[in-house]
Amino acid sequence: MGILGGGQLGRMFTIAARTMGYKVMVLDPDFASPAGQMADVHLQAEYTDHGALKQLGAACAAVTTEFENVPAASLIELAGHTRVSPGAACVAIAQDRSHEKSWLAENGFATAPFALIYSEGDLDAGLADTGTPALLKVARFGYDGKGQVRVNTREEARAAFREFGGQPCVLEGFVKLECEVSVVLARSDAGECVMFPIAENRHENGILDVSVVSARVPDHLADEARAMARAIADRLGYVGVMAVEFFVVSGRLLVNEIAPRPHNSGHYTLDACVTDQFEQQVRALCGLPLGDTRLLSPVVMVNILGDRWHDGGPHWDALLAHPNIKLHLYGKEAARPGRKMGHFNVLDADLSAALALAEQMRGAL
Ligand code: AMP
Repeated sequence: MGILGGGQLGRMFTIAARTMGYKVMVLDPDFASPAGQMADVHLQAEYTDHGALKQLGAACAAVTTEFENVPAASLIELAGHTRVSPGAACVAIAQDRSHEKSWLAENGFATAPFALIYSEGDLDAGLADTGTPALLKVARFGYDGKGQVRVNTREEARAAFREFGGQPCVLEGFVKLECEVSVVLARSDAGECVMFPIAENRHENGILDVSVVSARVPDHLADEARAMARAIADRLGYVGVMAVEFFVVSGRLLVNEIAPRPHNSGHYTLDACVTDQFEQQVRALCGLPLGDTRLLSPVVMVNILGDRWHDGGPHWDALLAHPNIKLHLYGKEAARPGRKMGHFNVLDADLSAALALAEQMRGAL
């Protein structure tokens, strides 16, 4: 198996693939990449390096990606040598907010009000469409709340657009969130689609903080989220694992983002489901039957960010004293504020007890 990208998602894919007996080659320019440490072979090269792509394509029976910012052209190049999923067309839509929002609107999936901004001149009409406050988001390479800023006036919108260097942006109406939920699914070559239980997600500073599973939303909303996620995957002709993030606004679902890969809000599956999202990625990539997505226990996932590495680092003892908490660390060499270093899953037959312990440990780390 080959994977483009050597972050934590690639690392967990690599572990799942090796557990199933596959050998794994990781392409990532960073010599200390979390996935590279786990792989049989780490090709340390850029994602556009033709020689490295050729080597990956020749060595691997199938190749996938762990992040959407890999150049779509590299996936097309690789597809000339080997099986690649998800396909370049799906990744191209998900990696650019303007393409993603336009595709969703054209295909009838509800989103927050938005406008595409290519020049300062587009801002006035855009603000008329979205209202204020609004969020100006760079179309490409934004993640975890980076590359987006809240604007209240025309002047603030202009200043923000200039601050982003005039690159293409999406202006989005700032909606009043009741909550956020996500669906992680897997779709096979034959169009079979299986979904993991819905996660209810809480973000802090634009970064996922806590996922509660199963989401505490009415059944009809959960059914609707599943149906929309599946319809998106079908319409894209998607093959592999993907996630759809939703906003719940006035009891309605709005699609926020599509991730063409396993997702942070699916990390709970590692300990709480029959099959986890990374094994599922291996299965989908290899054309194997998809695994059972059944939830074995209510679970709360908490992200561990680099902010906690001060005063001697996190207090693991407190966490590990609880036999129903499972710790996952990603092997990153340097801790930086906002950097995802690991996560932990709290399992309890009683979801509110899991949530209470998760909150307590989040404070105690
Ligand atoms: P994003 O990177 O676009 O997924 O944004 C990160 C987080 O910021 C989301 O999960 C929300 O919590 C918040 N957010 C993003 N867009 C909006 C919006 N239009 N209205 C309200 N909150 C938003």
